[in-house]
Amino acid sequence: MTPPPSGLRWLYVDFNSYFASVEQQEQPRLRGRPVAVVPVDTDFTSAIAASYEAKAYGVRTGTMIRDAKRMCPGLICVPARHDLYVDYHHRALAEIERHIPVTAVCSIDEAACRLMDNEAPADVAIGIARSIKRGLAANVGEYVRCSIGIAPNRYLAKVATDLQKPDGLTLCTLRTCRTGCSD
Ligand SMILES: [Mg+2]
Repeated sequence: MTPPPSGLRWLYVDFNSYFASVEQQEQPRLRGRPVAVVPVDTDFTSAIAASYEAKAYGVRTGTMIRDAKRMCPGLICVPARHDLYVDYHHRALAEIERHIPVTAVCSIDEAACRLMDNEAPADVAIGIARSIKRGLAANVGEYVRCSIGIAPNRYLAKVATDLQKPDGLTLCTLRTCRTGCSD
């Protein structure tokens, strides 16, 4: 089969700071605040997720909470609620499926979708990505944001999600990458 002229074959969705974003969606007091999601409530554990506000202070997944509190004095530690994250995962996948079939669920916060020939032109693929973002904001939660990458292969599409965060939309061909396609 001849590939489409755009060469675009994959659309990859990666949710940003996923566990922390779900907590900010569920608990309005956490919105706009530095949040670390923790497995147990002690300073001697590591963050399993950090909100973007916490990341601004250098707090990352894996940062020990004792250090994280020193780096980010207002840090709010929230115990992990895995059932809730799984529930949001199913809701987010169901929303993506309204716009394009999900080919592979790659992790709790990542999904890969293969573009059909009629979805491969750049403007069509970008339109699908924008409608996924609008649908997620409307039906899952406006704090549950994602970065979307569109590319000729699945690996490059995943890499493209890392080029703009949070709430990114990046299109990569084999020659160039273009971020900021959201509007
Ligand atoms: Mg992610």
